[in-house]
Amino acid sequence: MEETYDVIIVGGGTAGLAALREVRKRTPRFAIVNDGPWGTVCARVGCMPSKLLIEAANAFHRRHAFEAFGIRGAAGLALDQVAALQRLRRLRDDFVASTLQTTQALGDRAISGRARLLGTDRLAVGKRTLRARAIILATGSRPIMPASWHPLRHLLLTTDTLFEQESLPARMAVIGMGPIGAEMAQALSRFGVVIAAFGRAANVAGLSDPETDRVARLLLAREFPLHLGAKADLEAAGDGVRVHSATASVMVDRVLVALGRRPNVDDIGLEALDVELDEDGLPPVDPHTMQIADLPVFLAGDANRERPLLHEAADGGHIAGINATRPVPVRFKRRTPLAIVFTEPGIAVVGSSLRMLSGRKILSGEVRFEKQGRARAAQRNTGIMRLYAEPDTGRLLGAELCAPAGEHMAHLLALAIDRALTVRDLLRLPFYHPVLEEGLRTAVRDLAAQLPPCGESDLAACDAFDAEALD
Ligand SMILES: Cc1cc2nc3c(=O)[nH]c(=O)nc-3n(C[C@H](O)[C@H](O)[C@H](O)COP(=O)(O)OP(=O)(O)OC[C@H]3O[C@@H](n4cnc5c(N)ncnc54)[C@H](O)[C@@H]3O)c2cc1C
Repeated sequence: MEETYDVIIVGGGTAGLAALREVRKRTPRFAIVNDGPWGTVCARVGCMPSKLLIEAANAFHRRHAFEAFGIRGAAGLALDQVAALQRLRRLRDDFVASTLQTTQALGDRAISGRARLLGTDRLAVGKRTLRARAIILATGSRPIMPASWHPLRHLLLTTDTLFEQESLPARMAVIGMGPIGAEMAQALSRFGVVIAAFGRAANVAGLSDPETDRVARLLLAREFPLHLGAKADLEAAGDGVRVHSATASVMVDRVLVALGRRPNVDDIGLEALDVELDEDGLPPVDPHTMQIADLPVFLAGDANRERPLLHEAADGGHIAGINATRPVPVRFKRRTPLAIVFTEPGIAVVGSSLRMLSGRKILSGEVRFEKQGRARAAQRNTGIMRLYAEPDTGRLLGAELCAPAGEHMAHLLALAIDRALTVRDLLRLPFYHPVLEEGLRTAVRDLAAQLPPCGESDLAACDAFDAEALD
């Protein structure tokens, strides 16, 4: 027997739940289908447990600054890995529980099982066939694991399994230096694991500005060896694994495989939609409506690979949820791009990356944090911020940074870029003293110096001390 709905949402992650929030305001005839555990990747194995690990690791790492502050006894401090990982899971379970409340209250409209499309208006879940006017696919993504590594899988971890470990092995390799690999390599190293990091790309954490990338690599390499620019492979050796690339060969106990994430679209029956799929098996999706071609089917969140980030997944689900109940989809303006990597110093790309601006005439402004006053006071004086602006107007276009308080600076820059602020607009804002944001102002001033001078002096031109260390 077929069950009929207005909207069926496939996937109970962040995108699926955001879609649900909109759909249920508009119709009571909906269902949400989820395969595997409910509770979202973000809360279970993604954003939240990774940040919990990072917080514990950074708290312990701070002991290296104690001696210079005059705090003695740091050498006697120890990290109880078992206790720290227990705290991680306790808080993680809290975060998961709060996301479960929504779907647990849905009764039989929350269906557990694997959905597969049978057409533009039908799907199968086990033996059941569900029909709907519109279908939202929000099936997320999973860690990439090369098939040739499967025989060693008992020695390999991904972020799906890392946070379940009772304690951590003495030596680990992290393969893949994208955002997740870079965050986890630094956190594990600060947690007391001897880390060797490998990356096929020559850059780290998705940075495209060569100078920001160079600084980020140097800073990470102070904490653990970074073997970049060569493909790594594995072989079993005794109780552990030998990881080797063209430039290094390292023996470890376990490997964290962080090669990126693959959208979960290969087994959901997209071929039943009769649209052309690209080489990765993805259909054409309009990022302003989330619609697949002109069908009553929407693809949101990590599953469409567009911007695999939490706030973007939520936006995508929101858009799909509204459009799935409308005869004509609304086109939404998407947000200013913002990607943050929670290393220390924090890495971020805001607005247009340097790669996105390639071929366009731009001005670049820069600050380095070695001499920045507040950063020195806090022993956080490392890193760089590079800003890009339009030469004709002075409008800020983008930024790539690896800087203290990078996550907060990135939000300030996103606000400026979103509001189309110019270099002079930014210099008119108040900058309290002494704050790390004065470093941002130095980078803006570097841009201002390349723009035509304006006639009358105004507050934007007011340089309080003209002393780098106090900025
Ligand atoms: C370690 C890690 C750290 C991260 N840190 C951050 C961060 O700091 N900030 C940030 O912005 N982003 C971060 N992310 C990314 C963020 O977690 C994701 O972008 C977001 O969770 C994606 O949500 P989603 O709804 O698309 O997918 P998910 O939450 O994965 O939901 C998809 C759901 O669909 C289900 N499903 C799949 N196939 C089917 C099917 N056929 N039938 C039914 N159900 C199906 C899945 O089982 C899953 O429950 C991180 C990710 C990881 C892994």
